[in-house]
Amino acid sequence: KKPRVVVIGGGAGGATAARYLAKDSKGALDVTLIEPSRDYYTCFFSNLVIGGIKELSSIRHSYGTLAAEYGVNVVHDWAVEVDRSAKMISLAGGAKLAYDKLVIAPGIDFVDGAVEGWDVSAQNKMPHAYKAGSQTELLRAQILAMPQGGVFAMVAPPNPYRCPPGPYERISMVAHLLKQTNPTAKILIADPKSKFSKMALFQEGWGTHYDGMVDWVGPDFGGDKVSVNPDTMMLTIDGEENKVDVCNVIPAMKAGRIAQIAGVTEGNWAPVHAKDMSSKIDGDIYVLGDAAAQGDMPKSGFAANSQAKVCAMAIRGALLGSKVFPAKFSNTCWSLIDTNDGVKVGASYKATDDKIAKVDGFISQTGESSATRAQNFKESEGWYAGITKDMFG
Ligand code: FAD
Repeated sequence: KKPRVVVIGGGAGGATAARYLAKDSKGALDVTLIEPSRDYYTCFFSNLVIGGIKELSSIRHSYGTLAAEYGVNVVHDWAVEVDRSAKMISLAGGAKLAYDKLVIAPGIDFVDGAVEGWDVSAQNKMPHAYKAGSQTELLRAQILAMPQGGVFAMVAPPNPYRCPPGPYERISMVAHLLKQTNPTAKILIADPKSKFSKMALFQEGWGTHYDGMVDWVGPDFGGDKVSVNPDTMMLTIDGEENKVDVCNVIPAMKAGRIAQIAGVTEGNWAPVHAKDMSSKIDGDIYVLGDAAAQGDMPKSGFAANSQAKVCAMAIRGALLGSKVFPAKFSNTCWSLIDTNDGVKVGASYKATDDKIAKVDGFISQTGESSATRAQNFKESEGWYAGITKDMFG
């Protein structure tokens, strides 16, 4: 009987892991992928959809090739229980699946009560758009429906969260859209952090392209003391009430809930060994991507994809005895500030005994030429095509 690997979550981490496990074991492993959605919308490039630079359909992907070409058993359902002593998972539909090794890659969920006045029942009035698809479409529609001269507000999340530059790329793309449709509109950001990813680059870009439009309120000015009222569209910052037209609430995050149900979290995240992404709590479970507490890597699609390949190699080694090479990881996060004005930050990493540790890195500089910035954007499009192929085949 073939060894059985079950992967929970078909995103950047899980889809890549399932594909590499199936592809590289050439049928020697029985690989099952559990994912509720038939269509996966990447969060990466979803800000460009909001900005009108990409179409929503361009970020939609399906699981057909993983099943048809790689032999992955794709099950569209939710994993709702993990019985670690029986090595068995239960699905919402009632089925049970046994595993020899289990990969958990559920992405993020939001911390309850993180933003006073907001919970998921309010996500239609105040979208997060931090899981892509209908939320992306909704946020864009709300921006297009803003009255002339209206206010777009964002409540930015505390660290650590999915995609460190994501909120600020979003601000750039919202400004890009408003500049065309609603040039007197204002953008207000309440931020609990005193600095953020690529801050100097974003602030320079907002000044150059969207002068006077963006007002960033950090913790020194109460950006960390925020509440919302979705019924009245009020955003209160340090006691001061702001009536806003769109309110993009991005709450504090934690590992996708199934990681907690499986009992592999400590606090909000799931601690893992850097060399193979195995859980520090259960050696037959591996946690990938945003849900993992792994060390120095940011929570990004690039990182999840990179971790998935290390993990797939380790699982093949453990179950099939194939050769395992030392773990190496890399990441680049590109962000688009305006048409053809792309910036990037990235690093390479290695596994140490206690964490994934940064080896060396690079970051775009302020004042760069437009040719360099256009080249960055081109590079990001190449990366997008590459990673989605690497995930879905
Ligand atoms: P996900 O990709 O979210 O996949 C998790 C999957 O698990 C989901 O499909 C979900 O349906 C499934 N799932 C959850 N619970 C269960 C369950 N119980 N049973 C079965 N399935 C379950 N990253 C980059 O590298 N570059 C970028 O430019 C970039 N831009 C971004 C912009 C925005 C606006 C946002 C929000 C994110 C961006 N990211 C970017 C980050 C990137 O999207 C995430 O880091 C990445 O998707 C993490 O991969 P993952 O596999 O951990 O989670």
